[in-house]
Amino acid sequence: MYTLGIDIGSTTSKCVILKDGEYVYAKALALGGLGTEGPEKSLQSIWNESGLNKSDIARTIVTGYGRNRFEGGDGEVSELTCHALGGRFIFEGLRTVIDIGGQDAKVITLSESGKMSNFVMNDKCAAGTGRFLDVMANILCVDINDFEELAGKSDTPASISSTCTVFAESEVISQLANGVEMPDLIAGICDSVATRVGALARRAGVRDKVCMSGGVARNGAVRKAMEKALGVEIEYDPQAQYFGAIGAALYAYRQLNR
Ligand code: ADP
Repeated sequence: MYTLGIDIGSTTSKCVILKDGEYVYAKALALGGLGTEGPEKSLQSIWNESGLNKSDIARTIVTGYGRNRFEGGDGEVSELTCHALGGRFIFEGLRTVIDIGGQDAKVITLSESGKMSNFVMNDKCAAGTGRFLDVMANILCVDINDFEELAGKSDTPASISSTCTVFAESEVISQLANGVEMPDLIAGICDSVATRVGALARRAGVRDKVCMSGGVARNGAVRKAMEKALGVEIEYDPQAQYFGAIGAALYAYRQLNR
């Protein structure tokens, strides 16, 4: 039996097909979230990749920022539930999920049995989200994929003191003008995200095992900075950006098997 999870985020749309609620059969990602062609493009690409079509899918659950506006699913579930389910699907015994997406950050804690026990989120301010990293990558003309390698060369990360993305942008430009090296700037930018999200995580109460989900989890420099900020090991899986969609497909499967 195949179930489909669709996660419509602020910047990307992700689809995952699970087979018998057991493993990821296919996945697809398209740029563009709510209000764009992203959801349709990611669906088209998962049909192409899997060789399946809509009639093969027993149930579809939609999650993410754009879930309310999407027509064609069998139900909607919150991102919190889906990231918790998706994280636990990949990491047995997981107790904390740190989800950093394009526009918000959430920390979700789970009980021993995997039920959500607490969550804290920041959806008001771009600092501590993918948006902050994207703005900085843009002004520095650095590919976000190169952050890990560049930050790894830094011995003295720059200190970014502004709490606002707009002011931090000016601060980074002036540090660049004053000769601060690129690796130190990149490391400082990642530390700044880790400091902000780390504070959220402490409010939620971090328990081992901890993982990161969302697109920013792909940024190894941020993962390392988070480990340093929290003093814990952070589990990583290359499918981290799909955890919401995996959770939605798993939710669909469990509804059918209730
Ligand atoms: P949303 O669900 O809100 O659309 P995602 O969870 O898909 O957001 O995350 C989008 C963010 O992920 C982007 O803002 C970007 O900073 C980050 N990101 C995406 N791809 C990569 C990558 N290859 N390396 C590092 N960061 C990435």
